[in-house]
Amino acid sequence: MTRRRLSILGATGSIGRSTLDLVARHPERFEVVALTAHRSVDALADAVIATGAELAAIADETGVDALADRLAGRDVEVLGGRAGVLAAARAPADWTMAAIVGAAGLAPTLAAAEHGGVLALANKEALVCAGPLLLDAARRGETRLLPVDSEHNAVFQALAGRDVGELRRLVLTASGGPFRRAGLEEMARATPAAAVAHPRWSMGAKISVDSATMMNKGLELIEAHLLFAVPEAKLGVLIHPESLVHGLVEFVDGSQVATLGPTDMRVPIAHTLAWPARLAVDDFTLDLAAVGTLSFEPPDEERFPALRLAREALRAGGGAPTLLNAANEVAVAAFLEERLGFLDIVAIVEATLEAFAPTTPATLDDVLDLDRAARERARALCDAALR
Ligand code: NDP
Repeated sequence: MTRRRLSILGATGSIGRSTLDLVARHPERFEVVALTAHRSVDALADAVIATGAELAAIADETGVDALADRLAGRDVEVLGGRAGVLAAARAPADWTMAAIVGAAGLAPTLAAAEHGGVLALANKEALVCAGPLLLDAARRGETRLLPVDSEHNAVFQALAGRDVGELRRLVLTASGGPFRRAGLEEMARATPAAAVAHPRWSMGAKISVDSATMMNKGLELIEAHLLFAVPEAKLGVLIHPESLVHGLVEFVDGSQVATLGPTDMRVPIAHTLAWPARLAVDDFTLDLAAVGTLSFEPPDEERFPALRLAREALRAGGGAPTLLNAANEVAVAAFLEERLGFLDIVAIVEATLEAFAPTTPATLDDVLDLDRAARERARALCDAALR
């Protein structure tokens, strides 16, 4: 069997490390082309040494010398800056994991979409803020986009290639996050530590806060609309605190097909890594008899207005999802720095959306300009909220 040549953009993050764990379990099936990070020099160097990667790129240029020192004497190309990360994304690979967090992942993800093979997409922000561009790049590059997000991966598996015309509903499940039962007062006082303490998933800080506000589910609605070409009206959200049913589809005849699995991102990653085959991972298993009960409830859009906002942005289309994503990144960062209250996050996103007239970015530069403008506005709104 030929080994699948793969790259991981964002190799030092939560998704990147999970991917590396799977690769380390199956050295006979994979060889590593390129690995990237932002500032984590040591973690990147360790991963390069462990995998024998051919190329290592660190986005923060100030880390290049230290990375080169750590990798001295090895047969590996060391690059730095955004250009270095782009070069890593462009390096021909059969399979690329796009797991850089936030809009920083946009250009590298687009570059990876252009070179064919499989693009395992974790960086949902790239799809949300530049969806049509990313889908177009994948079409041109004959690249197969496979969703890594557990919900979309679940839906992809449940759909099993059926025509979306046969769908009545596509439902994304949500754990409800740490504030599922919290009142608005408790949420107003919530600290970053409380917000990132996700009840089910262990994830990076930004996406954990997004889960607490449910903006994560909002971004996922937009992601699902783009990935599966399903209209907003057919997209549903279901709170499922056990997080074992990850997504489901209801067909026009009333049949529902759901995908279940352990609450471990390595499961959907493994699905994309071997697709269309399967990767045997013996210790990933789910004992439903031991779980006993699964529960479901509708989402509460009053306490979690991010869902409503995301639906509005999805319906508005054009640049609205870009604005939503950019403002959310700024507001989440301000919250994590304890400069903003938890409930202010979504309020800042809403105020940013209201500040812009409808527009449709046609190129990556247009998207980046709009993203920048939205960030400036959101930062000004955060500063005003402080006063
Ligand atoms: P992490 O914050 O754990 O990791 C982010 C990765 O991106 C790190 O390798 C980081 O490098 C790198 N990075 C950060 N900023 C930049 C930058 N400016 N330029 C280049 N690289 C950068 O994030 P996660 O792994 O949690 O999430 C990654 C993506 O996957 C996100 O888009 C998230 O929404 C999505 N996702 C995550 C899930 C999860 O369970 N974690 C589930 C589903 C989707 P460094 O270590 O040096 O900072």
